[in-house]
Amino acid sequence: MAQSKYPDTRWAWVEIDQAALRRNVRAFKALLKPRQRMCCVVKADAYGHGAVPCARIMLSSGADMLAVATVNEGVELREAGIKAPILVLSEPPTTAIDTLLEHNVMPSVYDPDFALAYGERAVQLGCVGKYHMAIETGMNRIGVHYTDVLEFRRAIDFHRGIQCDGVFTHFATADEPDGWDFQLQLKRFNEAVAAMMDAGYDCGTVHCDNTPATIFAPQTHCDMVRVGIGLYGLHPCELSRSRITLDPVMSVRARITRCAHPAMGEGVSYGFTYRVPRATVQVCTIPIGYADGLSRTLSNRMEVLFRGERARQVGNICMDQCMFVLQQTPLHPIADAEPGELVTIVGRDGDAEITMDEMARLRGTINYEVACGFGMRLEKVYV
Ligand SMILES: *Cc1c(COP(=O)(O)O)cnc(C)c1O
Repeated sequence: MAQSKYPDTRWAWVEIDQAALRRNVRAFKALLKPRQRMCCVVKADAYGHGAVPCARIMLSSGADMLAVATVNEGVELREAGIKAPILVLSEPPTTAIDTLLEHNVMPSVYDPDFALAYGERAVQLGCVGKYHMAIETGMNRIGVHYTDVLEFRRAIDFHRGIQCDGVFTHFATADEPDGWDFQLQLKRFNEAVAAMMDAGYDCGTVHCDNTPATIFAPQTHCDMVRVGIGLYGLHPCELSRSRITLDPVMSVRARITRCAHPAMGEGVSYGFTYRVPRATVQVCTIPIGYADGLSRTLSNRMEVLFRGERARQVGNICMDQCMFVLQQTPLHPIADAEPGELVTIVGRDGDAEITMDEMARLRGTINYEVACGFGMRLEKVYV
């Protein structure tokens, strides 16, 4: 029997549009000069899109390097046979050093004790531990303070077990590249890098741009850019829409598992936050809930797409299921829904579309968090 790529065991899934991902990677590559490299950020399971399949597509579409948030995320890529350089975007505990060296996953480094322990172990194992030095320029999250870079390098560079493969910083306000805050971070970074180079320290690959900086500030691309959200077809801010064309990669879909016509006045879901207003309302159940990333804060506030039109979600969203209604009125007569019919939670259905940004607005958060959430439990289907 021909196997469907749709899940056999659950009528809810995430669809990943591989061609869209490829187009987005190329759209960013097209912003770079030939010698500038692209590091694709695949942390948090590629923002919920599936790290291993996405990383393969990115590498075959021109990515030079991958970045992750945790050592385990790096190991997952290595165990899948991915050979490209991998950078962990923060400094793990020293207890991770063996794992880093064994899998050739580079840490970000900013504590001299970590750097020296990493170098010691590398020497014992007969290898060299490559690292990227994170520089704190204003985000106040991680890194060597921009005024302390020479002192840091003096403290560790004598060690033959380590090698600086890159230096980087991270912008807090890259969606406003003309603003003072961005300009100040950039100035501090440029001065710190220049000071190290003047003092003869090897800086390796110099990089600072995330998605918005890559789009808005081409003069800051340096040797490499680190693109995350944009690869997944999501804009980091409204402004970037007019600057680059990106195609959404993730859709979220389900099939109706049950349909009913409860009597007028009946309640729906925990707490009866919705009551059936008339007998012509059909209540449909789909097997997706807040444990799948469909935040409970959306209860009674979101819509889904059914047969190319919007339908209201009703009642509290449960952990694993939720309900929506079809309003059957004389002006809008529609045939009863049937179990098995397709429902779109995020994505297109005919001319209608529900975007990650719509969900983010309703939830009071950003598209990044919405996409990550859908990646938690739903099976991913690569179309
Ligand atoms: C997450 C992250 C990125 C990617 O950011 P996007 O806004 O998704 O492009 C780049 N650099 C660092 C250090 C990060 O933590």
